[in-house]
Amino acid sequence: MNDNQFGELITGTGSTESLELLKAALDSSVSGIIITDNRLPDNPIVYCNASFERISGYSRPEIIGHNCRFLQARDRKQPERQMLKEAIVEGKTVNVEIRNYTKDGTLFWNELYVSPIKNAEGQVTHFVGVQHDVTRRKNAEHTLRNERELIEQTVKQRTLSLEQTREYLESIIQTVRESLLVLDAEFRVMTANQHFLKTFKVDRSETIGQNLFNLGNGQWDIDRLKELLNDILPTNNPVLDFEVEHDFPHIGRKLMLLNAYRIELEGEFKDRILLSIEDITERRAIEVRKDDFLSVASHELKTPLTTVKGYVQVINHMLSEQSGDKLKEIVGKTSTQIDRLNKLIAELLDVSKIQSGNLEIHRDVFDFDKMVKEVIENIQSVSPNHTIKLSGATNVTYSGDESQLTQVISNLLSNAIKYSPDHQEISVYLSVISGYLKFSVSDQGLGINQNDQAKIFERFYRVSNIQKKYPGMGIGLYVCEQIIKQHKGDLWVDSEENKGSTFSFTLPLLNDESK
Ligand code: ADP
Repeated sequence: MNDNQFGELITGTGSTESLELLKAALDSSVSGIIITDNRLPDNPIVYCNASFERISGYSRPEIIGHNCRFLQARDRKQPERQMLKEAIVEGKTVNVEIRNYTKDGTLFWNELYVSPIKNAEGQVTHFVGVQHDVTRRKNAEHTLRNERELIEQTVKQRTLSLEQTREYLESIIQTVRESLLVLDAEFRVMTANQHFLKTFKVDRSETIGQNLFNLGNGQWDIDRLKELLNDILPTNNPVLDFEVEHDFPHIGRKLMLLNAYRIELEGEFKDRILLSIEDITERRAIEVRKDDFLSVASHELKTPLTTVKGYVQVINHMLSEQSGDKLKEIVGKTSTQIDRLNKLIAELLDVSKIQSGNLEIHRDVFDFDKMVKEVIENIQSVSPNHTIKLSGATNVTYSGDESQLTQVISNLLSNAIKYSPDHQEISVYLSVISGYLKFSVSDQGLGINQNDQAKIFERFYRVSNIQKKYPGMGIGLYVCEQIIKQHKGDLWVDSEENKGSTFSFTLPLLNDESK
């Protein structure tokens, strides 16, 4: 096309050839183009290009002469229609995205530019509409919007459920009957529950945000506690049963039991410490009263029993050849029962001595193996149903409390017999290992399950299923362990339920104790 032809196209004064050229150019455009004549009734379409046919699915004869509204089919309530009408009335340019329908009824989104064409007098004679099918973009936008809404919805729900979880945990923390503090990594108080505030008679403002070690009158400012708390976050080692006795402001002297754990949560709650504080003043006072009672009661029982034992001995001496067998038997049985009672009372006394820290050891040098043999003989003589076999030797002249160690061995042997009623063999083994003498006694009796093994050395603990069948008070092993500890040794058990148990202890030897 030369400059002249182009000029004719623009001015509309061109030949038929130029007109054809112009049409061809419009037909090759990817945009759908229509022209409406504003001067004719109902503003009909007077021109459409090939792309408009393609986009709308209608052919030229079905388009020319119609008002554009057929493109909206029955979808007439779109606000964009109003915008189009107003622009046409006012002879203005407008740009809308409107829902249109192809001939076969398929929806397509039409991005429509409408601009007026004016004559030399400035009157609007035509409108040109240029359109693009933007359905794909619209659909993508729609999907994106849906996804965003879905994500927003999910986030909302998640936030709500987190908030509910937080409130739920908060309500637990607030209701437990134990003082709880949540600390950050610098030991500043982040949360204090009601029970804490009530127990220490403080309010939130003097607690929250404060460093733990500055609370009250510095009651928690204890070097050892600091050390343990410092270890929690890096090592995850909890602080267990740390006792603090202190003159607290407002509440006076109290004994508090502290336990602290690292909070095992990721994200927002990471690096926090949960500190629980239990007031055990009362409980400890009751325990002390119970121990005092035990001590007084066993002393009070011992005195008359010693007198009764004395009288029974006198009666025994007064028995003559002529006294009846029945009487002799009764006196003998009375004496045995008094010895049993004496032993029980002695054990109770031992417990109260241990509790008050008065279990003293009187060291003397003695032949360890000989002592063991004597205990075995004693126990064997009253246990005809069992056979106690001794093997090994220590060959040690040991320096320790012979009577207490006799008590330990006697207790362990008695237990081995008591708790293996159907298995007669009891083995005792003596040895020396790397500067320690070792004593073991094994039975093939009831055995002890793993759970109970940890507890049988506690005072008054007895394995529940044997309580009724086998008499006892659950203090023998407690006393044994304390005696061995006093001698700087170690007492332990290896056992399997229904297979048997081996109780062993080791005692450290001085250089000159091995013979
Ligand atoms: P007691 O024998 O008076 O109950 P102990 O302190 O000597 O008290 O023992 C505590 C508990 O340990 C016993 O009640 C028993 O359940 C368990 N026990 C001790 N020795 C043995 C053993 N050799 N075999 C099985 N259980 C044992």
